[in-house]
Amino acid sequence: MAILQIKRYGNEVLRKPCKEVSKISSKIQRLIQDMLDTMYANNGVGLAAPQVGENLRIFVIDVSTNKEPLNPIVFINPKIISKSGAAIHYEGCLSFPDFYSDVRRYKNVKVKALDKKGKPFVLEAKDGELLSFAIQHEFDHLEGILFVDHAVNRFAADIELEAKGLPCIDPEYLLEEKELCEELAKEEEK
Ligand code: ZN
Repeated sequence: MAILQIKRYGNEVLRKPCKEVSKISSKIQRLIQDMLDTMYANNGVGLAAPQVGENLRIFVIDVSTNKEPLNPIVFINPKIISKSGAAIHYEGCLSFPDFYSDVRRYKNVKVKALDKKGKPFVLEAKDGELLSFAIQHEFDHLEGILFVDHAVNRFAADIELEAKGLPCIDPEYLLEEKELCEELAKEEEK
């Protein structure tokens, strides 16, 4: 068991697209266990490999509450099969200490991946449950995308980032999210 150091926002490892895992070696298995230990030690809901400095397509999630038994889910080489609906979700990230923001997300997401033993599985998270947002958040990390790139109000987010001593949002990473904006406008009309 090892608790790894979490890379903070501003570290360039968080902006690099990650590489596929070619073989689930004992080294990869150890990394996954360390990622889980690190996530739990920091009371996180999810953690992606680049957050501990590993440029690999792996993330872990556990959305169980304190009253429930642990329920870790390991995703290796994940692919998003489908996504639909739109929602605004208030979230944070272990790489952004004490910073939270409203971000645009899909409500429903379907993902396929390999588990820690290399067995393929498909998982669907619906109706804006935490698992759906967590999958989108962690998947983004593998692409070098961060949750602030989805901020509903980038100006408010920048003020808050500055207050927490974190770098402002880099306009280079601005996400237009036309589809999500249109979906959200439709939701509001309802
Ligand atoms: Zn994160």
